[in-house]
Amino acid sequence: MKLMTKPKPKKSAVRSKPSAPKEKAIKRVYFFGAGKAEGGVHLKDLLGGKGANLADMTLAKLPVPPGFTITTQTCKDYNDLGQKLPRGLMDEVRSNLAKVEKASGKKFGDVRNPLLVAVRSGAKISMPGMMDTVLNIGLNDHVVLAMAQLTNNERFAYDSYRRLINMFGDTVMGVDHEHFEHELTEAKHLRGAKLDTDLDTDGLKDVVARYKKIYEQHVGSPFPENPMLQLEHAIEAVFKSWMGDRAIHYRQINDIRGLAGTAVNVQTMVFGNMGDDCATGVAFTRNPSTGENKFFGEFLVNAQGEDVVAGIRTPLDCATEMGNWSKKGWQELLKVKDLLEERYKDVQDFEFTIEKGTLYMLQTRTGKRNTVAAVKIAVDMVKERLIDEKTAVLRIDPAGLDQLLHPMFDPNAQRIVIAKGLPASPGASVGKPAFTAHEAHERAQNGEKVLLIRKETSPEDVQGMHSAVGILTSTGGMTSHAAVVARGWGKCCIVGAGALQIDEKQKTLTMNGKSYGPHDTLSIDGSTGEVMEGSVPMVAPGVSGPFAIIMKWADKLRTLKVRTNADTPADAARAREFGAQGIGLCRTEHMFFDAERIHNMREMILATDTEGRKKALAKLLPYQREDFIGIFKAMHGLPVTIRLLDPPLHEFLPHTEKEQAELAHSLGLSLDQVRQRVAQLHEANPMLGHRGDRLAVTYPEILEMQVRAIIEAACECKKLKIAVLPEIMIPLAGTKAELDYLKKYTDQTAQAVFKEQGVKVPYLYGTMIEVPRAAVAADELAQTAEFFSFGTNDLTQMTFGYSRDDVNSFLPDYLKKEILRYDPFQTIDVDGVGQLVRMAVQKGRAARDNIKCGICGEHGGDPKSVHFCHEVGLDYVSCSPFRVPIARLAAAHAAISDGNGKKKAKK
Ligand code: PEP
Ligand code: MG
Repeated sequence: MKLMTKPKPKKSAVRSKPSAPKEKAIKRVYFFGAGKAEGGVHLKDLLGGKGANLADMTLAKLPVPPGFTITTQTCKDYNDLGQKLPRGLMDEVRSNLAKVEKASGKKFGDVRNPLLVAVRSGAKISMPGMMDTVLNIGLNDHVVLAMAQLTNNERFAYDSYRRLINMFGDTVMGVDHEHFEHELTEAKHLRGAKLDTDLDTDGLKDVVARYKKIYEQHVGSPFPENPMLQLEHAIEAVFKSWMGDRAIHYRQINDIRGLAGTAVNVQTMVFGNMGDDCATGVAFTRNPSTGENKFFGEFLVNAQGEDVVAGIRTPLDCATEMGNWSKKGWQELLKVKDLLEERYKDVQDFEFTIEKGTLYMLQTRTGKRNTVAAVKIAVDMVKERLIDEKTAVLRIDPAGLDQLLHPMFDPNAQRIVIAKGLPASPGASVGKPAFTAHEAHERAQNGEKVLLIRKETSPEDVQGMHSAVGILTSTGGMTSHAAVVARGWGKCCIVGAGALQIDEKQKTLTMNGKSYGPHDTLSIDGSTGEVMEGSVPMVAPGVSGPFAIIMKWADKLRTLKVRTNADTPADAARAREFGAQGIGLCRTEHMFFDAERIHNMREMILATDTEGRKKALAKLLPYQREDFIGIFKAMHGLPVTIRLLDPPLHEFLPHTEKEQAELAHSLGLSLDQVRQRVAQLHEANPMLGHRGDRLAVTYPEILEMQVRAIIEAACECKKLKIAVLPEIMIPLAGTKAELDYLKKYTDQTAQAVFKEQGVKVPYLYGTMIEVPRAAVAADELAQTAEFFSFGTNDLTQMTFGYSRDDVNSFLPDYLKKEILRYDPFQTIDVDGVGQLVRMAVQKGRAARDNIKCGICGEHGGDPKSVHFCHEVGLDYVSCSPFRVPIARLAAAHAAISDGNGKKKAKK
């Protein structure tokens, strides 16, 4: 139930004459029709995407039924007033309705030539299926007779009437749709009808009578016969739906913020359900799944719009079927495709109705597409000279590239295909079936990977759809709710896998007599529509085709460099393939966890004197050197920033008694000695304890070993004629004195190696900026450091005082209660942490003009943070290999948004 309270009839609804507004009225209603429109595309904020485009299509002389749009501001006022329609609104509605009557030649509520209207929502950003629609408003017991006579089609008139009662009852008054569905099934059953279209006029009259009963039973009053009252309540229901749970969820999931509300579009009804020469459909000007430049649409003969979207009847493909049904209709649609793209320079998703052979456009909007399609469409449109390269780059959401960078099923792997559906949204997903949205969400919250398996999805399912790794439905077409929503998110989805029998109650999915339940693993391929048994292995993707072209254009536009965080030659090589221009962070501690090495590491930690530590470190040296040689080779001449050991030493020691005993035995120590050392290294707050450069201050021999390994590796590469640019990076420093102290050991070690090797390599000595003092005293640190790399993970931790490892105990509350807008560990906190970064860059450059500044915290791969990094004038961002293309594209967006200038924050 969406609206349990019964709206009281309002006086304004039955008044017939508009009263003069007292104060200067705000314009709330914008008319469109007969080639004229008060609105236009420039008014998307006020009229919503749908309203603005209806106005624009009217101006473009496309066949748009006349109507008007009530502004988004009115929705805001409605909610601000405690869900009351603002005064004077219905007067304005009435005067615009009069204009619609004039343009259509029909009269609202008239029993000779009645006008029926549709009421649809439409926010600035489209939210498919999230808000409400009511069709056929204006019908009542008298008007239905007139409609029957006028159209000479009694069946049609009653079909429309029963739809109105259902939609009004469900959407406006909150009567559960199930009740209406139940009555429809009963009526069909009584007459032996299989499909809704099999019901004859008498059958539909029976349905109308049943629906009215249901309505009265649940609402407590009869279905309203007054058309104006119907309209007022429908408008109100749309406004109310803006604050409904599913709309709120959808906005949260899609990070849609700052909108006033939804507009309401009231538009003359045209009918796709008047007979077999009528149809209704939904189409995209190009394929939103693959990006192919081909008309992509579906239609249903003798149906109304919601039949297509709801996935109740499986629609026909326009490209293969429309021509057979109506050659004229098909040709007109092809013309519309070109007209729309020429006008809007982008893929359009539009709804149309063909009423007795005449085409009408009901809406057009920018077509949602997945990233595969977005990239191909952007590149193709540049070739077709519809858009330029810059626009093409801006059309791709950097975060969306993630979809292209996820593994796909290995083409050589064996597939046990159990069913095939329509490939609605590409990608590869492996998970276990969940049979309701609620179940999917719950299980996903517990860390399970689930596939949401439904007959069809509805807007109520949106949370579960989002939580699932993939979606599979047995009914519905390529424009069904599941398909549209999944594509918008780039989530793998298959629809219309008709051969699957889904039993929600038993939690089973049956195919050819074999059943699968919540514990079975399935794989779904959204590019082929195949459903497979078990877990099909995946392969890593690459950057090729149109993806590579977009990245090339992005690289031409950006000024910020992109490096990667990588600790292995394989990661380094992968990152180079993705376009990394160096390594911004090589975390050396990861190199010590290998079985052999961890033993030497522990030996070093348990040694009681410098000599003992040096002995153990000497065993680690060759490993480190080999690691660095591998990385230098993979990066071939690009800069490599190597961070010296950072974590506290206790992280390397075993914690169970059994492991400690084994270690003691292998090192010839007693269990007590090991236990004592573990206890000695224990820290109450390890993040603020003996870690980072503090380790090197206490044990310079660790630094010496690591610097030696770096420089020896660099010398060896030089001898092999491989260019190397090592950058030795000190973690966690907060003072110049620390840097000076450690620089002495660094330089001495490097000089010694040069002497031994008989070659020299250039290297830089720099520091991470990860404690607030380092940022505040950056001018001081820059006297010694030749580069800064912002470790914004630690800097965020220490600036907020939020423990990185424990933050999840309260962060979800902070986000839900909007105390924080974003997780500051994912998106940089511009106003706090960001200010420290800005200050450090400025102070650092003031002390050392050419100091190189980069970022290597997680934020380096987050598009919003990349914008910030560009703005403060960093030289580079560094992120994990898979996020390198995301950062490249985000850097291009940032450069375009500041006028594509080579802007750098100077002193
Ligand atoms: C950081 O603190 O931002 C950083 C990159 O270092 P780590 O995550 O290894 O502490
Ligand atoms: Mg750190």
